[in-house]
Amino acid sequence: MKTRAAVAVAPGTDLEIREVELDEPRNNELRVKIVASGICHTDAIIRDQWYPVPLPVVLGHEGAGIVEAVGSDVDGYAVGDKVVIGPAFCGECAQCLAGHPMYCVNFYDRNFGVQRPDGSKAFSDESGPIGSHFFGQSSFAEHTNVVAHGVVKVPDSVPLDILGPLGCGIMTGSGAVLNVLQPKPGSSVAVFGTGAVGMAGMLAAKASGATTIIMVDIVPSRLEFAKTLGATHTVNSKEVDPVAAIKEITGGGVDYALDTTGVPPVFAQMINSLGTRGHGALVGAAKPGTEAPFDIGTLLLSGMKVSMVVEGDSVPKEFIPRLISLYEQGLFPYDKLIKKYKFEDINQAFADSADGSTLKPIVVF
Ligand code: NAD
Ligand code: ZN
Repeated sequence: MKTRAAVAVAPGTDLEIREVELDEPRNNELRVKIVASGICHTDAIIRDQWYPVPLPVVLGHEGAGIVEAVGSDVDGYAVGDKVVIGPAFCGECAQCLAGHPMYCVNFYDRNFGVQRPDGSKAFSDESGPIGSHFFGQSSFAEHTNVVAHGVVKVPDSVPLDILGPLGCGIMTGSGAVLNVLQPKPGSSVAVFGTGAVGMAGMLAAKASGATTIIMVDIVPSRLEFAKTLGATHTVNSKEVDPVAAIKEITGGGVDYALDTTGVPPVFAQMINSLGTRGHGALVGAAKPGTEAPFDIGTLLLSGMKVSMVVEGDSVPKEFIPRLISLYEQGLFPYDKLIKKYKFEDINQAFADSADGSTLKPIVVF
């Protein structure tokens, strides 16, 4: 069928909206009519080729939509189902079977290979094949084909057009907190970076009952906004030493911390701000080869723990319904981070995310 898609063609250049051909969904796939898609920092770094993902490609990995066609081997989905699309995983390797599909041994190929395991690409135009299945979905398209087992059915009670980011950015920040750090009620949490991922982590910390929530960034407007959503303290790390500030606020060091920046000095600040037996997690993406030094001589005695976390170590079919439930109870107001754009304005949405004026852009078809 013919559909419209935003195609990434070269690093640092605008996506091109083109009419493209979408092939038939395979036996294990669904064809989804995308209603809206979030834009995540990861779309921008792939457009800019931080990882060697072949171009041209249809990016987008926070898609929400309606099932339009169901492959012959798929059970449990019907035409008309409202869905959020999560990252792809094989479902068969040891990590998938152990309940950690975000560490699927085939995760890189399935999410960044931008083709099916058989080498086919779902999109094409007169210039040739165009990469598909980015994060299993390539949701910057009006219609797309996705492997069914990564697709999460969602209730009618919430507006579908705000749900896409639950499939990546929002799941990443909140999952790192709820699934990995698991802060105890009454504990302290510091979050470095107040983008969509960091803010989602903050909301999850608040929902967990953490009572000291410290947000660290270098953009004053974002820190002010964080206060309105639940931060008990903010630290502008351009003006003050965040490690000293966090130690002062917490009386010695924070219980849990999250680095959403992927900036080596910030990672070191996160480590150094932890208290005894504290637990820190990194979710911010850095280019392969990026190193961050920390003092293993001193830190051994602290008993602290550091986790590297992909997609909040979530099982999307289990976790996304929980986030929706928290949202419906008013305990996870992540919709306050969202600004909607028309699909045609997708490059403006990328620009507003890059300059910090929009926390979580969503393009609506
Ligand atoms: P964002 O760009 O909106 O937010 C990043 C924030 O970090 C900004 O507010 C920025 O001001 C702040 N920051 C940058 N440098 C800083 C510094 N030196 N000190 C303090 N603050 C600083 O991005 P986002 O959408 O929130 O995503 C955050 C990161 O998470 C990105 O790297 C993204 O690629 C990554 N990510 C990872 C996963 C995963 O599975 N691990 C999934 C989704 C996104
Ligand atoms: Zn993402």
